[in-house]
Amino acid sequence: MTLDDPLFGAGIDTLAIRAGQTRTAEGEHAEAIFPTSSYVFANAAEAAARFAGEQPGNVYSRYTNPTVRMFEQRIAALEGAEQAVATASGMAAILSLCMAHLKSGDHVLCAREVFGTTTNLFTKQLSKFGVETTFVPLADMAAWAAALRPNTRLLFVETPSNPLAVIADIQALADLAHSNNALLAVDNCFCTPALQKPLAFGADIIIHSATKYLDGQGRCLGGVVLGSAALMTDVLTFLRTAGPTMSPFNAWVFLKGLETLRLRMDAHSANAMALAQWLQQQAAVEQVFYAGLADHPGHEIARKQQRGFGGVLSFTVTGGREEAWQVIDSTRILSLTANLGDVKSTIVHPATTTHGRLSEEERQQSGITQNLIRISVGLEDIEDIQADLSRGLDGAKRPKSEV
Ligand SMILES: *Cc1c(COP(=O)(O)O)cnc(C)c1O
Repeated sequence: MTLDDPLFGAGIDTLAIRAGQTRTAEGEHAEAIFPTSSYVFANAAEAAARFAGEQPGNVYSRYTNPTVRMFEQRIAALEGAEQAVATASGMAAILSLCMAHLKSGDHVLCAREVFGTTTNLFTKQLSKFGVETTFVPLADMAAWAAALRPNTRLLFVETPSNPLAVIADIQALADLAHSNNALLAVDNCFCTPALQKPLAFGADIIIHSATKYLDGQGRCLGGVVLGSAALMTDVLTFLRTAGPTMSPFNAWVFLKGLETLRLRMDAHSANAMALAQWLQQQAAVEQVFYAGLADHPGHEIARKQQRGFGGVLSFTVTGGREEAWQVIDSTRILSLTANLGDVKSTIVHPATTTHGRLSEEERQQSGITQNLIRISVGLEDIEDIQADLSRGLDGAKRPKSEV
């Protein structure tokens, strides 16, 4: 954004509502959707110039689409990034980053606590192309330093982690990556730029699953890679060649989602904080994992690099799987689904769903015990969320199927 841009220096809400919008000659107030696969040229010379890249403008929607571009410019403004590249899903964003910046013989350091499919991408897919990955406990800086190799090119983290809200020190990881000429990529899905801006702490690349809070209402799949224009060039080339681009309709939904992002994230954070404190007082609750709580091991670092603590928390109940399932099955308002980042609160049993494929030993290592429950706290009235959980926590056995 240049100095003469009226939005230069504007606040987060103004950027979320205004950044990136262009208007057609129709003068539409809201952002337009361009559901078109290709574009026409005025004459053969213009077609030639566009194909040769000598004249700016659209050619084909695998390359550029005006609605997708508006979304890219808006999220880039929010993250303080030079450039954003929108993708079909969060996983397509991570794949595009890796295909652009890794090659056979490279080594990756990835946090042990990342999204399960991200782990699979590194272990089952990229390994086929000669990229080796070592997994490191997210908050253990000594382990990160010890695992670094001369050929380590990428450090990949998510902070806060899912579901235990482990916090990584972004600045320390960025310094470590740069000492080895490697890149630090942060999956900023849980905080979004409303709560955390990783580039300001030295990260090189940000990944989003737009599917979560950027949409915020559970409608569409999408993703974004963000960073300097220099780093995004190869990401864009991969995307244009391989094709996992964002659809214009999805981009339009995300544009609308961004407009309320900061308001929603603050409301999610407030509800989650209230729920965390309430859970701590329940007799049937053993421990609550939420970085907003002063006794959480990552609380101080989270305060340094986050504006708020987000909407996801987890807790253990006294007992084991049966007791955890009983709490989940006693809810009548919360949605039993593995998705998160929605205005609707969701509840899930990680050990038998999102983390069900891990061995019991891996689960123990990661703290995914059988008595653990994760909640993505939505924007319903907090009293109703608490009442919905009380039923199970107070021991009433009332399966969903019977209500
Ligand atoms: C959901 C999720 C992803 C994957 O995103 P999709 O849009 O489902 O492909 C990646 N990272 C995190 C942290 C997620 O929660």
